[in-house]
Amino acid sequence: MPINAEDISAIFAKAPHSLTHRDILSLLRTPWLRLAPLARSVADAAKGRRVFVRGLLEFANICRRNCHYCGLRRQNMAAKRYCLSREQIIAAASQAKASGVDTIVLQSGEGSCSSAWLAETVRAVKKRTGLPVTLSVGEHNDADYALWRDAGADRYLIKHETADPELYAALHPGHNLAERVAAIKTLQAMGYETGGGFMVGLPGQTLDTLARDILLCRDLRLAMVGVGPFIAQRNTPLARATSGTAELTLRVIAALRLALPNANLPATTALASIDPEGGQANGLLAGANVLMPSFTPPERAADYVIYDHKNRVSAVNAAQVIESVGMSHRLHLSP
Ligand code: SAH
Ligand code: SF4
Repeated sequence: MPINAEDISAIFAKAPHSLTHRDILSLLRTPWLRLAPLARSVADAAKGRRVFVRGLLEFANICRRNCHYCGLRRQNMAAKRYCLSREQIIAAASQAKASGVDTIVLQSGEGSCSSAWLAETVRAVKKRTGLPVTLSVGEHNDADYALWRDAGADRYLIKHETADPELYAALHPGHNLAERVAAIKTLQAMGYETGGGFMVGLPGQTLDTLARDILLCRDLRLAMVGVGPFIAQRNTPLARATSGTAELTLRVIAALRLALPNANLPATTALASIDPEGGQANGLLAGANVLMPSFTPPERAADYVIYDHKNRVSAVNAAQVIESVGMSHRLHLSP
């Protein structure tokens, strides 16, 4: 049910940390044309008009987990597994650096490679590029997090995926939400700039769950929050489930911007995949301030099938999207 203009003005006037579950639900129901400009104005004030561009490097797709939604799950025998060599990773990271990205994000399935190998790789990427390195490699023990931090890793991305404990347990055999949240807190305590996030449109998720997702991100004081639509993948138990929509994902981004004015919010690749025409531009208009183009070698990118119809967002695409909404970036791309 849409809410009226006075209600939203009263919510907008509140301090972000005092927004309640009910306020967030009202925001999620606010007509898009009213919500988006409010969120964009908060983003302009808190983050400016420059979009941060992260270079995403999907270096391995081997995974020990069995998340029900993900095409990289261990039991997916159809996935063609790979792990790039350190030399390939350094070459791709150097290319990202040359394009002008401000961080290298090393992403993989969980347990793709040995902890020591990853530590050495982090060291090598930092040495070669001089850029901050972000890890997005899943849940590990504290000793591994410490090892990678010592090797120079600056940031860590690990989404809580859904704030509904029962849904979390159903989607992640053998795991629970409490351990995921504990991992996020451990990483923060170790000095990682920590990013989280969740999926929009998971089967069984409600608007109420999404409000809890947003409040959990705020209460964890996450530096970055990535939200993307759930997109069904054909070789998973959720192959026939209905995917999330761009429309609801954009509302969630806007509500997140109002609840966490200072967080970095990416317009995700999943958003670009569900709506190739306008997904990421609308994400920026809804208050996002980060894009994450891929520098994964093209011959491997096709095997990183987290979900079906995954769009490949290149640095050139990212620059076009940013320019199309009148925002700025520091990419320098040769034609
Ligand atoms: N293995 C690491 C990082 C790679 S997965 C981890 O799980 O943290 C990165 C993200 O992909 C996950 O956090 C999840 O939110 C997203 N993802 C996985 N399957 C998806 C799907 N079917 N639709 C949309 N996003 C998905
Ligand atoms: Fe593995 Fe991450 Fe996919 Fe889960 S979401 S199966 S941990 S790659």
